[in-house]
Amino acid sequence: MADVRNVIIIGSGPAGYTAGLYTARAMLEPLMFAGYASGGQLMLTSDIENFPGYPEGIAGPEMMVDLRKQAERFGLEVEDKNVEKVDFSSRPFKVTVEGDEHLANAIIISTGADSIWLGAEGEEEQKGKGISTCATCDGFFFRDQEVIVVGGGDSAMEEAHFLTRFASKVTVVHRREYFRASQVMYDRVAAHPKIEIQTFRQVKRWLSDEKGLTGAILEDTRDGKEYEISCDGAFIAIGHKPNTGFLEGQVETDDGGYIIHSEHTMTSVPGVFAAGDVVDTRYRQAITAAGMGCQAAIDTEKWLEDE
Ligand code: NAP
Repeated sequence: MADVRNVIIIGSGPAGYTAGLYTARAMLEPLMFAGYASGGQLMLTSDIENFPGYPEGIAGPEMMVDLRKQAERFGLEVEDKNVEKVDFSSRPFKVTVEGDEHLANAIIISTGADSIWLGAEGEEEQKGKGISTCATCDGFFFRDQEVIVVGGGDSAMEEAHFLTRFASKVTVVHRREYFRASQVMYDRVAAHPKIEIQTFRQVKRWLSDEKGLTGAILEDTRDGKEYEISCDGAFIAIGHKPNTGFLEGQVETDDGGYIIHSEHTMTSVPGVFAAGDVVDTRYRQAITAAGMGCQAAIDTEKWLEDE
């Protein structure tokens, strides 16, 4: 019979590491399954300029390494493995990882959300080659080449601006006239000499040859007219979907799969808590995720005490 832990944290990122830090300092000896790609979305983020305490900004991966080190200093145990399934039907809760069952009296879920792909014709063959969802990871491959960025939110603005470091030209393709992006990020992109913005356009089909991506057929969202655009690379930045598939419906989620809090940070299952982008459809910031990780840790501590 496996040992019963006080708390298992599923997923890393600012929410998970902060929950790890707080539960470790509360002497709960937490165990975290950080995932094979630990650190979450911020591992794919270049500069974080809006996390208080960093006047010069900080690179996402650097911040994640620091958060992890800080939590480990107080005893957070981290395994870079994915959770395959969970069983929250009885206590202690069961968490299966690489075939082994782990038991815990409380769970904190902080598995975040992943990028969404467009699903346009020709995309599958070019995924991870000419088409990416991460400029920080793949921008370097498009030195002095032309790229497009799809989307009209802050992610698209951030990707487009970052890509100007490498690409000779960046075209932002957005399906509407208005942008969801914050004004400051939009203005920075709109003013950049290397960036062109095309509105009322969506990708109908990707074009490629044996060497890779060559362009796309764009469709006017008002009248369906088609235009060809040439590019060597494309970055899709149209949002995220929560990583809740492994829960198989054992905690209540909304239609989009985001976990719903029923009381403070507790989910529909007493003793199972959730924090960060896996519940957050509104703020989705590193700082709010970290704050919620702290709340989930305190809620867990109080719940375990009451139990
Ligand atoms: P978002 O704000 O939801 O924006 C998604 C964009 O993609 C929208 O412009 C949307 O168009 C477009 N889109 C969605 N589906 C599409 C499709 N099938 N085809 C074409 N376009 C599509 O997502 P996000 O940009 O990832 O940002 C998420 C959150 O993170 C936001 O709260 C944002 O402020 C935050 N964020 C902050 C920073 C920062 O401050 N450094 C950086 C990145 C993200 P419509 O507008 O027409 O719906």
